[in-house]
Amino acid sequence: MQAARLLIVGPQGSGKGTQGARIGDLLGVPAISTGDVFRAAIKDGSELGAKVQSVIDAGDLVSDDLTFEVVRDRLQQPDAAGGFLLDGFPRNLAQVALLDGYLAERDEPLTAVIELGVARAVSIARIAERAREQGRTDDTEDAIAKRLSIYERETAPILDVYRERGLVDTIDGVGSLETVTARILGALAARGIARPAAA
Ligand code: AMP
Repeated sequence: MQAARLLIVGPQGSGKGTQGARIGDLLGVPAISTGDVFRAAIKDGSELGAKVQSVIDAGDLVSDDLTFEVVRDRLQQPDAAGGFLLDGFPRNLAQVALLDGYLAERDEPLTAVIELGVARAVSIARIAERAREQGRTDDTEDAIAKRLSIYERETAPILDVYRERGLVDTIDGVGSLETVTARILGALAARGIARPAAA
């Protein structure tokens, strides 16, 4: 049995947030979404929220150092001791290096990277639907276009790094919620990553 130290990577609208939360629940590890942490900080009116609000609304990336600080603090919480699923981090090669350094110090490398694939047209349609339902302030047309191009330019290349390490499972993200979850669980099970049997 392998520990679940996972990443979920995919373009906006791939369903990675929803699937990440489901997989985290099913495997008994926290799903940590940097986007959610930032949005909660903005909502709470915290210092962090004030720092990141305009960057996020414009669809740009928050600085690597500040983002990594958030991730490191979260990974140090007791509930992440047995494993974790990171959603939305790392987002570029610099963040890969920061995460590598952190995990190497602990001798706890990643055990799998889930790539959730959907066609660009599908992700755009899903973002438009989310904009109607949730009213996210960064779901404007300009910010969406910027986020998708940042994904293609900066985030997609991180998958090549993890692919070389043999960590990537590419999952078809089109299908019902349950179908996609089952595909992910199947790929993880093939790596020996599964929910620990109840004691
Ligand atoms: P998400 O919910 O993952 O789409 O993230 C929403 C926004 O939060 C992004 O458009 C970025 O502005 C910011 N953000 C989330 N994760 C990161 C990250 N790893 N690095 C930099 N900015 C991030």
